[in-house]
Amino acid sequence: MNAHHEAKETLLFINGKHVPATSGKSFDNVNPATGRLVSKVHEASRQDVDAAVRAAREALDGPWGRMSVEQRTTMLHAVANEISRRFDDFLQAEIADTGKPRSIASHIDIPRGAANFKVFADVVKNVPTETFMLDTPDGKGALNYGVRVPKGVVGVISPWNLPLLLMTWKVGPALACGNTVVVKPSEETPSTATLLGEVMNAVGVPPGVYNVIHGFGPDSVGQWLTEHPGVNAITFTGETRTGEAIMRAAAHGVRPVSFELGGKNAGIVFADADFEAAVEGIARAAFANTGQVCLGTERVYVERPIFDRFVAALKDKAESYKFGNPLDGETTMGPLVSRTHMEKVRSYFAQAKEQGATIVTGGGTPEVPREYAEGFWVQPTIWTGLPESSSVIREEIFGPCVHLCPFDREEEAVALANDTEYGLATTIWTTDLARAHRVAARINVGIAWVNSWFLRDLRTSFGGQGKSGIGREGGVHSLEFYTELRNVCVKL
Ligand code: NAD
Repeated sequence: MNAHHEAKETLLFINGKHVPATSGKSFDNVNPATGRLVSKVHEASRQDVDAAVRAAREALDGPWGRMSVEQRTTMLHAVANEISRRFDDFLQAEIADTGKPRSIASHIDIPRGAANFKVFADVVKNVPTETFMLDTPDGKGALNYGVRVPKGVVGVISPWNLPLLLMTWKVGPALACGNTVVVKPSEETPSTATLLGEVMNAVGVPPGVYNVIHGFGPDSVGQWLTEHPGVNAITFTGETRTGEAIMRAAAHGVRPVSFELGGKNAGIVFADADFEAAVEGIARAAFANTGQVCLGTERVYVERPIFDRFVAALKDKAESYKFGNPLDGETTMGPLVSRTHMEKVRSYFAQAKEQGATIVTGGGTPEVPREYAEGFWVQPTIWTGLPESSSVIREEIFGPCVHLCPFDREEEAVALANDTEYGLATTIWTTDLARAHRVAARINVGIAWVNSWFLRDLRTSFGGQGKSGIGREGGVHSLEFYTELRNVCVKL
């Protein structure tokens, strides 16, 4: 039997059923740790996209549309519980698609994937709408109150770096608000979205409420879904350039978009910071998930008196990661997601060298056990000495790499951090309380962490400014996107 026959198949999920694509086409889903085939993924045709959107539209008028908020939110709690019950299935699927270590997938991806259903179910139940009494000439008055209604069919386009987590971050609130969804997960990581279809069926979510179609972006499923007139709103996480294409698609029919896009986040470490905590925090921000986190930092400004000590300490951290079998509890860093992405990251390694960087550590390929030799591995990498105009400092690399640069004054650090068209996140390290607040208020970002990184309260706003996005999701802010707020005015 050849590998083709042995390969699993990843099907579409339309109207409550796992179905083959009508295109007859499929593409390879490759395990980035080994370079081996995980599954053959069915590539949706335009007709499959139509079928998914139609199923989602019809479901709006079915039992889902008639459910009380209580019934709906109870069902979403059941979805979360079922994800937790099938934790190992989700874990295996996410690890096979991404190569990320068990330690990350089991602590972040899967638990957060489940939590996204609970949190938004609770938000929808607990957030009030506004009420105003209006005086009228007859003295009897009028009562205004707000009602939130679903937008309709929401197109969800998600990336590969935190596949289940970032997809459910949108599907959770969309469903909690009563919408139906058509999801296009990244072509690199199709498995957990497909598996979630089984969970939806197991807990009785009506057919058509949650649909998954697989394929690529331009001239493929991504484009067809975002151009589809049956889609009422589009929520997207991914690259800024893709956001531009989706915005053009959404212009037809003036459909609303919510965009969580790229970043080139700065970290700032002041000399008065808790040194160990800052090194630990910046190491996570630079290297966690092999640097494939939109909130991560690829440029860090360190106050000069501690610069050399900081560089040395971060070097030790970078050199302490263990590579290899993602399922092994000892492994602390996985590969990059694909060969293409590895080539992109390596091209920045080369550019840094050409542009005269001092390579403090890394810049190459780590030693891995023979079984993993065909995987997409790169070393955690630290540079110093590049000019701020360098492509390595200006462009999002999305790999485990960071440039460290000394600064002398607070003003200077703020200016350096803000010298970018992006504006997603920052991480600031200082024990001076007044300075912490002052600097956090001045960095042009959607999320400013002080003495922390990736500490997320899901009730808070999440999003970026500039080229990092449009709109905010999280907590009540998700309701702003996933519902229409209708004002009802009752003359008394
Ligand atoms: P990507 O933009 O290449 O792809 C994301 C999704 O968009 C995929 O499903 C892809 O198939 C689809 N797509 C591509 N072209 C399309 C088109 N023309 N029309 C419709 N859909 C299309 O992004 P990626 O490489 O998967 O993810 C990495 C990027 O995502 C990085 O830039 C990262 O910063 C960003 N990101 C941002 C956040 C955030 O919250 N701000 C979170 C995670 C990742």
